[in-house]
Amino acid sequence: MKALVYGGPGVKAWKDVPDPVITGPGDAIVRVDTTTICGTDLHILKGDVPAVQPGRILGHEAVGTVTETGSSVSGISPGDRVIISCIKSCGHCINCRKGLFSHCLGSEGQVGTGWIFGHLIDGTQAEYVRVPYADNSLHKLPAGVGDDEAVMLSDILPTAFEIGVLDGRVAPGDIIAVVGAGPIGLAAMATAGLCGASTIIAIDPNDSRLARAADFGATHTVNPGNPQWASDVLALTDGAGVDVAMEAVGLPETFEMALRLVRPGGSVANIGVHGKPVELPLQDLWIRNINISMGLVNTNTTPMLLRLVAQHKLPADKFATHHFPLDGFMDAYDTFSRATETEALKVVLSRNHRG
Ligand SMILES: [Zn+2]
Ligand SMILES: [Zn+2]
Repeated sequence: MKALVYGGPGVKAWKDVPDPVITGPGDAIVRVDTTTICGTDLHILKGDVPAVQPGRILGHEAVGTVTETGSSVSGISPGDRVIISCIKSCGHCINCRKGLFSHCLGSEGQVGTGWIFGHLIDGTQAEYVRVPYADNSLHKLPAGVGDDEAVMLSDILPTAFEIGVLDGRVAPGDIIAVVGAGPIGLAAMATAGLCGASTIIAIDPNDSRLARAADFGATHTVNPGNPQWASDVLALTDGAGVDVAMEAVGLPETFEMALRLVRPGGSVANIGVHGKPVELPLQDLWIRNINISMGLVNTNTTPMLLRLVAQHKLPADKFATHHFPLDGFMDAYDTFSRATETEALKVVLSRNHRG
């Protein structure tokens, strides 16, 4: 088969590799029908994730069709259309029993690390992929849900909902601010309404991103290029600060922006993937009763989010802005890595791409 293989920092190639085979009784082989590229893949290609070794097939998000299952797989059969979850889940370790799939103790990849695809085992940017713990890590797709929307359930929608909205403790009536209107920030805006957020303020220096935020649930937009940006946000909260400030970029500056906006008793939910230390001004924060949260997605909300997508209650299809054939990774990565110019949110690669 063909797959996108990591060759070390800055190097990737779409090339022939051996077909994946069942290696354990809980495995399934899935033919990849639709996949996408994550910001994390760009970090890997920069060399920021040294655990990814040259030779690894990239990608952790996909929708596909099961072609083969191991002897102990009971809930998934060949022919099923499935979402491949970005996080493994053995289903019976102590962390999985708590719903903490992000730290699954199953031995596949690495004990205690849920994110294994395109990281510690071969990933989804390929014609076929081996999925361990198939009964727990795959989600069967109902007929009415299209690939473009379903692939947003591999990672971006559960991550934004769990790490931004649930960990941020969004409650009915809350005023929230999302720093960063890239794909993950938009997904946080799109899912904040599920917990009753009343006001959703999108904050981003890029006006074309802000213009799109309303499609994902933002009620107000603020460009931090304006020196008055923080007082503009506070004016929307009667000066008190927002109930929940989400950081959806992964930079010290944007985390500091979120800290600046939160009201006493509020929450700062970090969704961004950080590569540098961030200063935490505890001398100012200790007295303010602020909850700060962060983490890796568990994907234990995926079945619930799938039901909402199936009923068109989430704008999942709006993330797919650019489409490519499955062998179009070079162009797709180029488009995705220049998102400011190309206005790409999620680039989608499909086996059935036409045009
Ligand atoms: Zn991802
Ligand atoms: Zn487990």
